[in-house]
Amino acid sequence: MPDIAHTKQILADLLAFPTVSADSNLQLIAYAAEILSDAGARISMHHDETGAKANLFATLGPEGDGGIVLSGHTDVVPVDGQEWTGDPFTLREVDGRLYGRGTCDMKGFIACCLAMVPVFAQKPLKRPLHFAFTYDEEVGCFGARALMEELKRAAIRPAAAIIGEPTSMRIIEGHKGCYEYTTEFRGLEGHGSDPDRGVNAVEYAVRYVSRLMALAEELKARAPAESRFQPPWTTLQVGLMQGGAARNVIPGHCRVEWEMRPVQEGDAGFVKDDIKAYIDQVLRPAMKIVSEEADIVTHVVGEVEGLEPVAQSEARRIVSELTGLTEAEVVAFGTEAGLFQSAGISAVICGPGSIEEAHKPDEFVSVEQLAACLGMLERLRPRLA
Ligand SMILES: [Zn+2]
Repeated sequence: MPDIAHTKQILADLLAFPTVSADSNLQLIAYAAEILSDAGARISMHHDETGAKANLFATLGPEGDGGIVLSGHTDVVPVDGQEWTGDPFTLREVDGRLYGRGTCDMKGFIACCLAMVPVFAQKPLKRPLHFAFTYDEEVGCFGARALMEELKRAAIRPAAAIIGEPTSMRIIEGHKGCYEYTTEFRGLEGHGSDPDRGVNAVEYAVRYVSRLMALAEELKARAPAESRFQPPWTTLQVGLMQGGAARNVIPGHCRVEWEMRPVQEGDAGFVKDDIKAYIDQVLRPAMKIVSEEADIVTHVVGEVEGLEPVAQSEARRIVSELTGLTEAEVVAFGTEAGLFQSAGISAVICGPGSIEEAHKPDEFVSVEQLAACLGMLERLRPRLA
């Protein structure tokens, strides 16, 4: 087992790359790639369209299906406006706690993985061990989505994935998805005295929102009987509605920002199909009668699949054996795990540090949690050999 001092040094190195989602992660990826290739791992890197960010996918052991993925995102949330005791990008240890941006979310886990790489590489593995380090998780899981495409193209089919988001090393087998939209209503402005000569964007938006609210009620009835989520159903809510200029002007524009948090496959499609039909058959035709330019356009801000608890889960079985924990829980925060599951890879979340510390000033991970994570990875080794 690697010593904790070595893991701390790697964490300090990772922290010093200020990989806020808006910025490049290439230096961190190069650093991780060097450790992996020095140990004989096969490396593939895939850049995003800007070229400033990349996913790293690396494999130790044989080619083929049925491997285990250790997965973590390399980006961190910004520190702007937060009061930090020290420099957020310099690792600081006080009383068994390691402070810095990303220590728990989730460079602590990546540091443990990288510290273990030479250990995993010591003996030949019978089963592939993959490392997946992604970009842009915090802003919509774009890196992981691209990675799933890449795996599909390369016909690599791992059996299970451990996503090392901070769970205090508990096993998490479920979280809701997060689907976010902005819907724009383009109407036709006019004088308030003759409403029928304009297309009132606000009034069409109200009808749209009413339909969404009716669907929100229907979603409650669709909740799975055994759902452990709080609340147990897929939620839908409108968070912002903005339009119009003055009382006596027919509003030409309105914007609605709304979101869904699905608990099961199918709920998001149910809502999207219904609301699309309502637009196509009712709202848009009525708008077009008055103005050909009038329209309703929905922008997808992000569609991140949930992680649905399943009865038979290889990932849960493996992590349960590694940690000795028999219970798996569900949580409120989202991760990349749902994307793995949607790609046919059994996935659970288990990693060092607490989600309570994530995204906050003076974010930290305890040395004890890192040691527990190293212990889990150490117990993984004989299972692959
Ligand atoms: Zn995270």
